[in-house]
Amino acid sequence: MRLILLGPPGAGKGTQAVRLVERLGIPQLSTGDMLRAAVSAGTPIGLKAKAVMEAGGLVSDDIVIGIVADRIEEADAKRGFILDGFPRTVAQAEALDRMLEAKGLKLDSVVELVVDQDALVHRIVKRAEETAAAGLPVRKDDDPEVFKTRLAAYNRDTAVVSPYYEKTDRLKRIDGMQPIDAVTEAMKAAIGG
Ligand code: ADP
Repeated sequence: MRLILLGPPGAGKGTQAVRLVERLGIPQLSTGDMLRAAVSAGTPIGLKAKAVMEAGGLVSDDIVIGIVADRIEEADAKRGFILDGFPRTVAQAEALDRMLEAKGLKLDSVVELVVDQDALVHRIVKRAEETAAAGLPVRKDDDPEVFKTRLAAYNRDTAVVSPYYEKTDRLKRIDGMQPIDAVTEAMKAAIGG
């Protein structure tokens, strides 16, 4: 199964993706995680992406498209994957369509978690507090001010991605304000398994 999770930062894509990985046995491909790994490793991509990520902006399409193109070639992604955090622009969505078409592959589902944006800042503050309390490093962009920039980037560049899939009848919307388990159930129903 090839699946895309859409929704603003803090909508719960990562939480749901982890559950889907367990149930479906296919990998979660999070461009945020891949970029953070590149930053930690100090690779050329990481060096380019670091400042823009810390400021809450979007990394350039060509960089992100390149890492996804490489990642979906890996053995574990052959049976399917869950894309989390990609595509974040229409150009990325178009590039993904071209990549899959060239391989004769199709997307099975695109699911959007619809949330109340006013509630998201609170979620992010909570996530940062819980992470710190657990003694883990807090993401630099999980800061209320930077978060507002991330949300603005979402509204400017990413909100148009779901209509892109809606136009071709590939989109399913789910209420992401429900409790986590209810979202998981709605997700199961939406993707048919
Ligand atoms: P969240 O899920 O909380 O929005 P992510 O971990 O997906 O955060 O992404 C963190 C940061 O990584 C983004 O704010 C952005 O700078 C960069 N990033 C991740 N995915 C993409 C993408 N598809 N296009 C551009 N930038 C991206």
